[in-house]
Amino acid sequence: MEDNKTIFGKILRKEIPAEVIYEDDFCLAFKDIAPKAPTHILLIPKKLIPKLSDAQSEDAELLGHMMVSVGKVTRMLGIEDAFRLVINNGAKAQQTVFHLHMHILSGRAFNWPPG
Ligand code: AMP
Repeated sequence: MEDNKTIFGKILRKEIPAEVIYEDDFCLAFKDIAPKAPTHILLIPKKLIPKLSDAQSEDAELLGHMMVSVGKVTRMLGIEDAFRLVINNGAKAQQTVFHLHMHILSGRAFNWPPG
């Protein structure tokens, strides 16, 4: 975790504050600082995986845990029936922080196909 120079590494090390709404041994969920929907939560693994396409077979359990945690967080917030889960992978897909994160968005209408 010490080698993680991203802003999310700093949040994990508590060097900068975040509005944490869920934490367990493997992941952390906190409010996005610039929300794109009335509810905008970021769920990150504590392990540094820069982007989803960097994940390896050994990360399968962690990724599964994160998906189950999305369910837990959305149930906690009462948005389990209406949210969008987004992972931007790579700069061309608008990823700006290179520590894997899942965007949980809710509270407004969403277009399909996504922009
Ligand atoms: P992405 O563009 O997919 O890499 O998303 C990065 C997200 O991190 C953006 O939605 C930012 O608003 C959010 N973000 C950046 N810095 C912080 C921070 N200090 N606390 C919470 N969210 C942040």
